[in-house]
Amino acid sequence: MKNSEFIEELLPMQPKEVVAYKCPYCHDIKTTEFAAERCIEEHLLDKVINDMWDDGATLQQIDDQFGVFNGCLTEEQKTVTKDSCFVIEYLALCDKPAYRIVHIGSHWGAITVGGKGSYLGYYEHDVNMLYIKDPHPLSELFVYEFGK
Ligand SMILES: [Zn+2]
Repeated sequence: MKNSEFIEELLPMQPKEVVAYKCPYCHDIKTTEFAAERCIEEHLLDKVINDMWDDGATLQQIDDQFGVFNGCLTEEQKTVTKDSCFVIEYLALCDKPAYRIVHIGSHWGAITVGGKGSYLGYYEHDVNMLYIKDPHPLSELFVYEFGK
């Protein structure tokens, strides 16, 4: 096919209007109403889970109620609370317990940790559950301070 023929074939084409559904929380555009409703439900569930987490629940209690970890928590993960802190060396190259769980996603239990482990400042990052190990008490939380 020559270029001119190709262009002639495309000329009658007009843009088509489509219907989409926008999640009012994250503004994601979904192609079905069902997907948008599902997105809204996940945000509401996230809120309930994280309110429970902020009130001091353990990972086990959250899993018992919402099944976000599918019963796959290790013995030491079961007792972890918002006050537990972890050494996650690859975050800001910090080898001290500077990170705590600051958010739990309802979808597959995605974990976000946050902390100030170095001069890079406060930092939040999603981590694999494999890094949620050897919990330290809140009294051992390391917070980087300039010059110390
Ligand atoms: Zn959403």
